[in-house]
Amino acid sequence: MEVLYSSTRSNGIPVKASQAILKGLSDDGGLFVPDHIPALDKTLKELSEMNYKQVAYEVMKLYLTDFTEEELKNCIERAYDSKFDTEVIAPLVEAEGAYYLELFHGSTIAFKDMALSILPHLMITSAKKNQISNEIVILTATSGDTGKAALAGFAGVEGTRIIVFYPKNGVSPIQEKQMVTQKGDNTLVVGIHGNFDDAQTGVKKIFSDQELAKEMDEKGFQFSSANSINIGRLVPQICYYVYSYATLLKEGKIAEGEKINVVVPTGNFGNILAAYYAKNMGLPIHKLICASNDNKVLYDFFSTGVYDRNREFVLTTSPSMDILISSNLERLIYRIAGNDTECNRELMAALSGQGRYEITDAMKAELADFYGNFATESETAAEIKRIYEDCGYVLDTHTAVASAVYQKYLAATDDMTKTIIASTASPFKFTRSVMNAIDAKYDTMGDFELVDELSKIANVAVPNAIEEIRTAPVVHDKQCDVDRMQNVVREFLGI
Ligand SMILES: *Cc1c(COP(=O)(O)O)cnc(C)c1O
Repeated sequence: MEVLYSSTRSNGIPVKASQAILKGLSDDGGLFVPDHIPALDKTLKELSEMNYKQVAYEVMKLYLTDFTEEELKNCIERAYDSKFDTEVIAPLVEAEGAYYLELFHGSTIAFKDMALSILPHLMITSAKKNQISNEIVILTATSGDTGKAALAGFAGVEGTRIIVFYPKNGVSPIQEKQMVTQKGDNTLVVGIHGNFDDAQTGVKKIFSDQELAKEMDEKGFQFSSANSINIGRLVPQICYYVYSYATLLKEGKIAEGEKINVVVPTGNFGNILAAYYAKNMGLPIHKLICASNDNKVLYDFFSTGVYDRNREFVLTTSPSMDILISSNLERLIYRIAGNDTECNRELMAALSGQGRYEITDAMKAELADFYGNFATESETAAEIKRIYEDCGYVLDTHTAVASAVYQKYLAATDDMTKTIIASTASPFKFTRSVMNAIDAKYDTMGDFELVDELSKIANVAVPNAIEEIRTAPVVHDKQCDVDRMQNVVREFLGI
């Protein structure tokens, strides 16, 4: 059955998957959502006999219904290849009574690679299908990981350019080095004087500027988004939840149909929303455990039904979760409002106007699948130390937030359901914070000394992504104020 996509904010004419991927964001500022969530059409047993690419095809074909089998398989082949340092693509590691789903084996060692390895291929295919001759300009705001993963995905891809804005003082040294050393004539990386929310708001503003869009079109350009609001990122993220369930089943860790919990360290709400979609497709998931750091706007939302971004923005050691406006939550709000665009639009208007909104009791009742909690900086560090000392496994800071929240969930519920924890980054990406958590003595070491030390204590080889940047020259040093973002874009495009 064909799946069409429409905005969360108005009842316009629905578009095909390829068109939603090309546009990224709907013209009215809303997010594209599928008109229904398709059910898995293979049994869990059948899925358990497939490899990652095969599972990815079985999931994605249900959403991207205007792609031919050949087109979609072609995209999947190109994405999940030797860029990943393991053939299983997303391995499960059992530690301390939970299963860590390692989503960081791609080229930039963060889970964003899972979707951003395939998005450029989905986008070029979509452009071809829709006879688009404009150059596609990817405009991205990043809290650190999306930027590099998108750059790696789009660099050198013909017919595309990519511009990445990141908060100049809000990403880890390794994250920054990864971005500013990015090669490729079609890439631009800019540090903004503001935080991630400023970057994201700035990008959204440029996107919805109709006059600029018209001017761009005349000059042969059009924008699209590689942010997690793009449905072309959300859909590939559903695959690894299905795949990890299938892996547990294959390995005899669970029985067919047995429910599992999923814990997700959450920022923009994209990853956990993918798990929610997986559940709604029929994957046996009990609780979706939403883990936040000190920016615990989502925890407060799940406990009170009030979403309130009027608070201090805290810079933490898990920067990819330092977010006060979780964009993808809008897709959940829309759904728990009974797919009511007007209700959703009003709430989003309140969010951009007063910085807060409150959902109704009926909507709140629809959130029973979720459990939210948060971990403070010291709880996160203690969790890294605890897991390392108990079993020698080293978590990155984001995964440690999830792991610490899972401990809180266990203490609160005694729920012994088997649990997958989304492990969203390699500890090598956040070496200093990770090593300091294990022992304060490491604080005097240099960044790359720490890398080697981590490799030693974790007994894991230094990933390629880190080796590459040891000596790479900085090629991007542009900075700008938030209100100059549009000028920077114009300059780069020569318009
Ligand atoms: C992006 C990111 C997150 C947050 O994921 P969302 O989909 O934005 O909720 C968590 N951890 C890491 C390492 C990330 O890069």
